[in-house]
Amino acid sequence: MSHHVEDTRVIAEDAPQYNATLVRREDHSAELASFWVRLDGDAIPFEAGQYMTAGVFADGKLWQRPYSVASAPAVAGTEGYELYVRLVPVIRFTTLLWRLREGARMRLIGPKGRFMLEPDDHRTHLYVSTGTGIAPFLAMIRQTQLAGSPRKTVVLHGVSFAEELGYREILESLERDATYPLRYVPTVSRPLDPRNAAWAGRTGRVEAVVGDVCHDLRLSADRTVVYICGNPEMILNVEGALMGRGFPEFHVKKELYWPKGKAPGEVAAATGS
Ligand SMILES: Cc1cc2nc3c(=O)[nH]c(=O)nc-3n(C[C@H](O)[C@H](O)[C@H](O)COP(=O)(O)OP(=O)(O)OC[C@H]3O[C@@H](n4cnc5c(N)ncnc54)[C@H](O)[C@@H]3O)c2cc1C
Repeated sequence: MSHHVEDTRVIAEDAPQYNATLVRREDHSAELASFWVRLDGDAIPFEAGQYMTAGVFADGKLWQRPYSVASAPAVAGTEGYELYVRLVPVIRFTTLLWRLREGARMRLIGPKGRFMLEPDDHRTHLYVSTGTGIAPFLAMIRQTQLAGSPRKTVVLHGVSFAEELGYREILESLERDATYPLRYVPTVSRPLDPRNAAWAGRTGRVEAVVGDVCHDLRLSADRTVVYICGNPEMILNVEGALMGRGFPEFHVKKELYWPKGKAPGEVAAATGS
């Protein structure tokens, strides 16, 4: 379960593909956007935390990549599936996605993945992510809220620049209004950069602050389940920091967005596509 890492780029020939439309696009910055994709037919059920493979047509080909769904399963039939995406500056999938306007034809394949909540888990849920890795946690929070079964949650989210704290307003308002038993802990890794001049919150990479967060919020290994999502190096480092605090490995679940050791340029060079 938590040790399982599947090659998400390989899409089974027989995986059902669904025709879909980009119904809404919200640009948060030049490099971060939410894409709401709705199926033409009935919505396909999924579990919060799972991902869908999105397909875009270009050059007579279907290009596809996996994305964690950020929206609640309950709204798939009405609003669609929300994908929270970073533009990666290599000429591959995201550059094609960025060209799309509302109304564009797309495909969705899935759902897939095992990064899901356990039923009736009464431990505190510590969700650790960097960048767009926060997406599956939004689905988990939204769905458990809609279902009236919220979980005691701590959201540790790391970004380079404070303006990249996607979903900050939603998470801050859940915490402020106590509409969900949630602590939101954003941290920026480049505090000295002028873009962070106005930032007065926590600083440091998530792997460096996760120990302090556990200490400050009294998250003990026996009463906490940890979910980590995003950059593979970060995931390994956070896991290492938690093991050092006595967290057993099976209390930690992981979702890697790309294989360890792959920087954007290297992948393009390695695959030549
Ligand atoms: C299970 C799963 C869920 C995913 N969910 C999301 C998601 O919700 N949002 C999202 O933006 N991406 C997500 N990804 C990554 C996504 O599938 C693509 O790899 C990414 O959008 C880049 O696509 P590309 O074709 O432009 O570049 P690719 O050739 O796919 O990737 C090139 C390189 O870009 C870097 N990279 C990839 N994704 C990111 C990212 N999100 N942030 C920073 N650098 C990155 C890595 O170094 C990677 O090796 C997920 C991946 C997996 C396996």
